[in-house]
Amino acid sequence: MVRVRFAPSPTGYLHIGSARTALFNWLYARHDNGAFILRIEDTDRARSEKRFLEEILSSLKWLGLDWDEEPIYQSKRFEVYRKAAEDLVKAGKAYREGEAYIFKVEKGRTIEFEDMIHGKVSFNTDEIKDQVMIKSDGSPAYNFCCVIDDVFLKITHIIRGDDHLSNTPKQILFYEALGANPPHFGHMPLIMGMDGAKLSKRHGGVAVEEYKKDGFLPEAMVNYLLLLGWSPGENREVISLKEAVKIFDIKDMKGVQAKFDIQKLTWLNGEYIVSKPERELLPLIKEKLTAAGKDVNRVNDDKLLKIIGLYKVRAKTLSEFVSMADYFFSDDYAVDEKGVEKYLNSASSKDILREFGDRIGNTEDFSAGNLEKECRRMAEEKKLKASQIIHPTRVALSGKTAGAGLFEMMEVLGKETVLKRLRKASS
Ligand code: GLU
Repeated sequence: MVRVRFAPSPTGYLHIGSARTALFNWLYARHDNGAFILRIEDTDRARSEKRFLEEILSSLKWLGLDWDEEPIYQSKRFEVYRKAAEDLVKAGKAYREGEAYIFKVEKGRTIEFEDMIHGKVSFNTDEIKDQVMIKSDGSPAYNFCCVIDDVFLKITHIIRGDDHLSNTPKQILFYEALGANPPHFGHMPLIMGMDGAKLSKRHGGVAVEEYKKDGFLPEAMVNYLLLLGWSPGENREVISLKEAVKIFDIKDMKGVQAKFDIQKLTWLNGEYIVSKPERELLPLIKEKLTAAGKDVNRVNDDKLLKIIGLYKVRAKTLSEFVSMADYFFSDDYAVDEKGVEKYLNSASSKDILREFGDRIGNTEDFSAGNLEKECRRMAEEKKLKASQIIHPTRVALSGKTAGAGLFEMMEVLGKETVLKRLRKASS
């Protein structure tokens, strides 16, 4: 049975690159009905923090990557590593140097393995120094405890980033020394920025949590991570996790580049927002509105659903939704000063707004269709272009020069608020 693991170090938030590693291991396991196991590599006690661990676990859950079995913690297994190191000393394969335990690397050998993504890879042991297993402070070195645990967990496949490629021959030497069979290895291309440099803060957020805060949907995030190193073929870009589980084949990762393109991620997010039913967006939007300090109780759910309907085709992120639709939730919304200057400040536009306000104030029917009729009628009677009414009205009501269809948004905003804002802008 396939057994894979994800082995984060809780010394920081879940990085996009680590999330992708987790995702491909998870896919590999789920595709084969195998097990996906978590191992917490918290050997650096000074830098490992509980809040990071919690964040990593919650980001994984948010992405929909569930794990099997109880996670294991390396910090609880220091004795196991020491015992294994001592056994290697007894067997003449390692030596002590003060408090440290060091593994002897035999020179002049070629270590070869068949990488699931790269194919045959080989290293010469002349390039590999003797390996520290236990450091003098008593903590285990990564390459050693990694192998002890991968053997203990019966891991069959190790899928990780190319940054670990040079660790693999060292780990294979440990498997040999322990008399264990090495698992299969697959090393994925590292995620780069669009400029070809290693992904960093400079390219945008690097922690999954930041994207969550910025209003990305987990479905879009996970879909995007899938495209970083793998392609479902036929130029497809939108693919659900469920479907990916079915068709995933690690061999397809060969030669695929992994360039982090925030625009593509944003586009994908927009696609997921559009296709999500308003009802499902409702709680997510409410959460974002509340986080932004908006009073969600000011509008009831029915109205909020209509607002979502108006903006879900426009907002590429949930946060963008909040800034686009802020004028529904308070009278203190963001105002585009240039728009005010252009459309509201002249005496003629104030007259237009006053007249339009009077006309629609007298109509009973505040539906979008009727409001539009009133607007067209006034334009005809006053020899105006409809746009001369529409633009100032939009700025007066929303503070913005663009947004949802004017008459639809007026209907949702309601007669009282519309008249109040038109009066204010025309005074
Ligand atoms: N803790 C290591 C990392 O985060 C794990 C590497 C591995 O998968 O072996 O890079």
